[in-house]
Amino acid sequence: MRGLTPDYEMKTPKNIKEALQILSTNSGEWQLFAGGTDLMVSYEAGKLTHKKFLNINALHELKGFVVNDQEILIGGGCTFTQIKNHPIIQQEFPLLVNSAEATGAIAIQNRATIGGNIANMSPAADTPPVLIAYNADLILLSSKGYRIVNYTQFHKGYKRADLRADEIIMAIKIHRHQGISHSYYRKVGTRAAQSISKVCLAGVACVFRGQNIEWIQIGLGSVAPIPMQAIQTEHFLNEKDLTHENIQQARNILMDEIHPIDDIRSEAKYRKTVAGNLLTEFLESLKK
Ligand SMILES: Cc1cc2nc3c(=O)[nH]c(=O)nc-3n(C[C@H](O)[C@H](O)[C@H](O)COP(=O)(O)OP(=O)(O)OC[C@H]3O[C@@H](n4cnc5c(N)ncnc54)[C@H](O)[C@@H]3O)c2cc1C
Repeated sequence: MRGLTPDYEMKTPKNIKEALQILSTNSGEWQLFAGGTDLMVSYEAGKLTHKKFLNINALHELKGFVVNDQEILIGGGCTFTQIKNHPIIQQEFPLLVNSAEATGAIAIQNRATIGGNIANMSPAADTPPVLIAYNADLILLSSKGYRIVNYTQFHKGYKRADLRADEIIMAIKIHRHQGISHSYYRKVGTRAAQSISKVCLAGVACVFRGQNIEWIQIGLGSVAPIPMQAIQTEHFLNEKDLTHENIQQARNILMDEIHPIDDIRSEAKYRKTVAGNLLTEFLESLKK
């Protein structure tokens, strides 16, 4: 049942310093509120865990992009519309454009932030597999300073992650010039828009002459309790030739490595088969 508005409090800090100060003095009492697209669904369902919200949606410190020769930093408060329209992202990180476009529909993309997508910790979210593929780092800020966590190490279990209640996801850092020759993204859902994925696979690779995989990195959504890196499949594929046998074996390894569940959107068996099909499609595309 829907929550009652007067039961809740919303505070809008003037700047990030004030936000961090409030979070540090009342650790755990205040919950961050960015675009609100996940939180408002919980509100409607009467499932909010907190009564006090810190509105960080207007904080300019979380909004921009910083680009230098080595990396791009995407502010945790950037929306998916801002991300998909950024020229460097369009040129160098097309999978982020793909995942932004696959998120909800235009109205959601205008409002939903990448920091909120990460902090919501859904195993079915569309951008986390891309952050795994690009080996992104998270910059987490608290009143004590900042720390950097590699995104592949961030999730610790279903809806548990290496993120303290007094921390804000300040930015996502991705290295440029990774030597990627091929990239692939596919979300399988019930519809093209406004659907939660049944399976999502994002992958990048460096391939020599359409024949030999120098290295490969693969992220998946909706196939485990957390957004998952296909480590065993990657280990098998690194430095392998793109033969029919190797592609078949990689498919089998991936299907053993993932642990999807039956739920209202799909069945575990279907998800395994689809994940195998997506990997095959990705690997076949590396020959071109
Ligand atoms: C109709 C609809 C369709 C949707 N479709 C998709 C979809 O296709 N794919 C998909 O992945 N998601 C989808 N979503 C979910 C949602 O839009 C995304 O997860 C979105 O990115 C959440 O961002 P937000 O800014 O709205 O987060 P909020 O709702 O404001 O917050 C979500 C969580 O993140 C925390 N948080 C927010 N910002 C930060 C920060 N900077 N640092 C630390 N913690 C933070 C909040 O405290 C909260 O726990 C959909 C939602 C709706 C309502």
